[in-house]
Amino acid sequence: MKVLVLNCGSSSVKFQLIETDLEAIKTNSDICLAKGRIERVGKEDAKIVYEVPEREKYKTVLPILNHAAAIKETTELLTGELGVIGDLKEIEAVGHRTVHGGEDFSDSTVWNDAVLKTVEECSKLAPLHNPHNITGYLEAKKVFPDVPHVAVFDTAFHQTMKPVAYLYGLPYEYYRKYKIRRYGFHGTSHRYVSYRAAQLLGKDLSDLKIITNHLGNGSSVAAIDKGQSVDTSMGYTPLEGLVMGTRCGDIDPSIPLSIIKSEGISAEEMDTFLNKKCGLLGISELSNDMLDLENAYYEGNEQAELAMRIFCYRIKKYIGAYSAAMNGVDVIIFTGGIGENSNEVREWSTEGLDFMGALIDIEKNKELNRGEGIISKPESKVKIMLIPTNEELLIARDTVRLISA
Ligand code: AMP
Repeated sequence: MKVLVLNCGSSSVKFQLIETDLEAIKTNSDICLAKGRIERVGKEDAKIVYEVPEREKYKTVLPILNHAAAIKETTELLTGELGVIGDLKEIEAVGHRTVHGGEDFSDSTVWNDAVLKTVEECSKLAPLHNPHNITGYLEAKKVFPDVPHVAVFDTAFHQTMKPVAYLYGLPYEYYRKYKIRRYGFHGTSHRYVSYRAAQLLGKDLSDLKIITNHLGNGSSVAAIDKGQSVDTSMGYTPLEGLVMGTRCGDIDPSIPLSIIKSEGISAEEMDTFLNKKCGLLGISELSNDMLDLENAYYEGNEQAELAMRIFCYRIKKYIGAYSAAMNGVDVIIFTGGIGENSNEVREWSTEGLDFMGALIDIEKNKELNRGEGIISKPESKVKIMLIPTNEELLIARDTVRLISA
């Protein structure tokens, strides 16, 4: 079955056309037929990148003034001269990445009017994301009116967390009134890599305690016991937890109040500051990009090294905390742009964990960079693994699972 996966952001639309079915899911034999992304949606000079396996990458610049135009361009790429299907009718379902499902969705769901209303209500919790996901769905529904559309939420996987993990030390009234609690994000990625690890190890997920580190421009850690998320580092918003590209992660909550007073800035400016000016960028005073920091580190830049060390130290603390939360850990996974590409980050985040039986193999870690497999020593009690994430694939698989049920 051909499933179109759409990920609509404020100014971007990413897509993949995936051939999959229940058998392919079991045997990991799903196929990506084509993928692409349209950036600068809303502009005269939107950037389009389109890739078909084993063909040269196609890039162009075109006016794409809204999401409707972006979806139209997507369908033209898939069926036109560079296309991989003869007719849009070959697409049997559409899966949509949807950021926030609040407490209402603990699994992916088929879109309908009631779902739409609830996702709109969840926009209060993700005002920068959900409205664009909704626009993407509404526009795609016009182009594909007769096929099922499925919403796959970033937050759904973490809905198995217990109150002890998701409530903050705030008056309970604020949870009741405003739903202030930990939600967690990157759920599709954490779920995909934990499932894939079990598959690669030939084990049942229900026998494993796993810590997944999704490290990219936004980063989060999750504790997964028997296939269920029991805790995760991002919280009410994606600002909490690890030090990120430009987000501060965990800080003393009185710090923003103190800076607001000393710098005389508004709450909105503070929000921008914490999300855009901190993290690796703020510490290094150089870049939010780990590759830039690595290059600077190798040229002797001490502040770049400091930013990298702080990033890794925070990961190590979460690994310790989540091992305690689960009374042990069998597998530690690295994924995401940084987790998949930076052997330094994987090494520094796991060095000195021999007390808990996690022994990284430094050579294997370098050799396997960007690959998939085990990077711990054979005698390591805890397996350390590198697994490239594939959120689009999981969205396609969920779509098939739901419409085949
Ligand atoms: P993502 O948000 O998952 O796309 O990841 C983006 C991050 O991955 C950026 O910080 C990139 O610098 C980082 N990244 C990509 N390639 C490399 C690389 N070869 N070495 C280190 N970091 C990398």
